[in-house]
Amino acid sequence: MRIAVFGSKAYDRRFLTAANQASCHDLTFVEPRLDDATAVLAAGFPAVCVFVNDRLDAAVLEVLAAGGTRFVALRCAGYNNVDLRAAERLGIAVVRVPAYSPHAVAEFTVGLMLALDRNIHRAWARVRENNFALDGLIGRNLHGRTVGVIGTGQIGALVARSLRLGFGCDVLASDVAPDPALEAIGVTYTDPTDLLARSGLVTLHCPLTPATRHIIDAAAIARARDGLMIVNTSRGALIDTAALIEGLKTRKLRGVALDVYEQEADLFFEDLSNEIVQDDLFQRLLTFPNVIVTGHQAFLTEEALTAIAEATLASLSDAEAGRALQHRIGPEVIRSGPPR
Ligand code: NAD
Repeated sequence: MRIAVFGSKAYDRRFLTAANQASCHDLTFVEPRLDDATAVLAAGFPAVCVFVNDRLDAAVLEVLAAGGTRFVALRCAGYNNVDLRAAERLGIAVVRVPAYSPHAVAEFTVGLMLALDRNIHRAWARVRENNFALDGLIGRNLHGRTVGVIGTGQIGALVARSLRLGFGCDVLASDVAPDPALEAIGVTYTDPTDLLARSGLVTLHCPLTPATRHIIDAAAIARARDGLMIVNTSRGALIDTAALIEGLKTRKLRGVALDVYEQEADLFFEDLSNEIVQDDLFQRLLTFPNVIVTGHQAFLTEEALTAIAEATLASLSDAEAGRALQHRIGPEVIRSGPPR
């Protein structure tokens, strides 16, 4: 199948090309992201392959459909950037990679927690200048702390397990569907308000939906325990950034680590080191000593990239052969509400 791979980076080319040895698709790597300006580049391609910040709204999907595209393959798990109803109306099947390596994201999340808690980011910067003073670097043990996990699906469950069994934390969780296996190891489910009031550290692993957008907003921060630390490796819009900044300025929040950011589509995955970034909220975030931001890289392991490439191309092989699409985003998801 002829596949246009949008927003492709060197690592996409490397892992998709390797996986394609088995699939023999005709891959065309397109550097720009898919949006209304670039959608015409897909003309004549029955399939496009996209990532988290490609924009597949109704207008873009209409251009794709007019150009003959019938399949969209997301090389990621989340699909909040796709207007699924429009895709269904236009006869475009959307597949994703529901599970490539939850370990990659879970491990990165724990890494961010430790770095934030123990000031590893600041220590590294100091040592590079031969400053070995320890003032200001006092952290806290994870052991014995109360940590809240919002969303205990594949990734959240691994984080909860690691915190509970590995670090000996008291783990509170919030999910619309509690996991009995986590309860069996002592994870306690509660509502998000209670979780925020009792946790010293909260990590977000629920998907971005209308119900979870800005789940961390000014009201939630006001109700939270003083000195709360927040880690978000899920989706940026789970957090209201302005409220986060206010919480940091008033010291209600002790620290924040983000791998995702609500307006990341204008920033992440690009080298902007010679540009003037116009996003003042984002720039303000970077000024806090107790904030760590990474550019949506929690998924970025060799294992995950291999699994993503193999699953994506396998789905497109199924599509080409007319087989059932195992990882198609189905009508039950489409009916559950408009994407964000
Ligand atoms: P998953 O579907 O396995 O788990 C999501 C969990 O959230 C489910 O248990 C679901 O019941 C729960 N949930 C749904 N609505 C909720 C609500 N209102 N409140 C609390 N919980 C709710 O997904 P996953 O594979 O664990 O991925 C979690 C998120 O991580 C995804 O949304 C994805 O966007 C993000 N992600 C980020 C990266 C990265 O590189 N930073 C990589 C992969 C996934």
